[in-house]
Amino acid sequence: MRKKIAAANWKMNLLQNEGKALINQLLATLPPLSEARQVVIAPPFVQLSQAAQLLSGHAHIHAAAQNCATEQSGAYTGEVSAGMVKDAGAAYVIIGHSERREYYQEDNATLVKKSDIALANGLQVIFCCGEPLSIRDEGTQNNYVETQIREGLFHYDAAQLKNIVIAYEPIWAIGTGRTASAAQAQEMHAHIRSVIAGKFGHDAAADMSILYGGSVKAANAKELFSCPDVDGGLVGGASLVAEEFTGIIDAMVNC
Ligand code: PEP
Repeated sequence: MRKKIAAANWKMNLLQNEGKALINQLLATLPPLSEARQVVIAPPFVQLSQAAQLLSGHAHIHAAAQNCATEQSGAYTGEVSAGMVKDAGAAYVIIGHSERREYYQEDNATLVKKSDIALANGLQVIFCCGEPLSIRDEGTQNNYVETQIREGLFHYDAAQLKNIVIAYEPIWAIGTGRTASAAQAQEMHAHIRSVIAGKFGHDAAADMSILYGGSVKAANAKELFSCPDVDGGLVGGASLVAEEFTGIIDAMVNC
């Protein structure tokens, strides 16, 4: 089912008590959610169980991991498996965030392994794609993102695709305060949807949730989320501030 989602990516921020306080603040002002209007919160691994417990009993607001290992279990010091993420109570995992691609050299082949193992463990995948500034300046961003999707997702079938959400995050807009314009976001989201339609058919494409990420704030969320192919956002910095993220949730619910 195509759903709107406001997803918070806390990255490597907040201590346990701060994370707890933020979730409690969000829960206190949460508008009515539904299967079609969801909130996702991705804290650091060490807070995943706490977040899942705080969110349990609140429908349609889910915990997510920011990453998972390529392997199921074993001698992989420092890694956290998809099974552990699921066991901690998470429903989603973010795969392929540009910071993972850039700082931890995660290429498309690695991301395929991560998505495969996440799906096999019953997690839903938020698959990130997006171009760097040099590609945007060259004007080849459509091809660039299409390749990421082809190499990351085209080996799935339409049934598996139902457990995948795409997040388009232009790297030049992440944490920079420079948001893609609503027109730029809509153009790329429509392109992504047409790429999905070309491979999986129009029904699968119409069903796909495609989130925008890159300096989303309460002040610009409504304009971005009103675009016909933008189904909500993956939010970094602004998700750490209760009033900001609440404003983004409200925009998601009302668009
Ligand atoms: C992100 O990290 O996914 C992100 C979009 O960050 P920010 O909202 O801070 O640009």
